[in-house]
Amino acid sequence: MTSQFDEKNDVTKRKQTSPDSEFSSTCSPQPSVSNEDASRRKFLQMAVGGAVLGLVTVGMEFVAPSSALAHSLLTPEQALEALVEGNKRFVAGNLTSFELDLAILRHHTSEKQQPFAAVLACADSRVPVELIFDQTIGHIFVTRVAGNFTTSEIIATLEYGAAVLGTKVILVMGHGSCGAVDATIQHKKVPGQISALYPHIQPAVDKAGTDLDEASKANALIQAALLRQSSTVVSHLVDEGKLKVLAAFYNISSGVVSLLEN
Ligand SMILES: [Zn+2]
Repeated sequence: MTSQFDEKNDVTKRKQTSPDSEFSSTCSPQPSVSNEDASRRKFLQMAVGGAVLGLVTVGMEFVAPSSALAHSLLTPEQALEALVEGNKRFVAGNLTSFELDLAILRHHTSEKQQPFAAVLACADSRVPVELIFDQTIGHIFVTRVAGNFTTSEIIATLEYGAAVLGTKVILVMGHGSCGAVDATIQHKKVPGQISALYPHIQPAVDKAGTDLDEASKANALIQAALLRQSSTVVSHLVDEGKLKVLAAFYNISSGVVSLLEN
């Protein structure tokens, strides 16, 4: 069964070959083979026939192992476009990522990942990052902390994503009704170490005031700027045009992700 994934995929050939002859020539008969084949065909159709350029480009990497560097060929603009188009599908209720074959995705990413985008998001359960961008296994490198702010560890993680894995765009994404930002605004008395979040978010409150959404947007902008400025790895990639770092805001009611800067 492994060989069918490892062989060089020729989409045209597969479309012209009947399932029986294809497998009689490449695999020993197994009860599950025809289901695997049907599933794989669906995956190929999705990846090749997808209406969105970003989806096609991303999908092709998994279809054709020989093009494992597909993501490195994406421009930051194309990577951003893939996220934007994915969010449009999410808002419209036309998710396509669930139709991809997860078994094949797992197989092709078991030893290597090449996510095309990174997102720094809040830990909030209403912000499921892959879902709202209609992405799946291996596509987005996600870091999350309540209040979506940068720390040394978060920056290190995003540097790894950009410098080693090759992410082309980093979104620093705030969201509506953020509990961490709200608690900071109100200086809420909280148990344990929860208030350790406040100093990171306070500059946004100082700048934007006590309107929750405005403070959350200001926080995303401040954190994105911090990331660009405090990481030499990130700033060099940005200067070279190999990476975009942008602030964004997720409206948890509408599902829409808005870019806060160009
Ligand atoms: Zn939040």
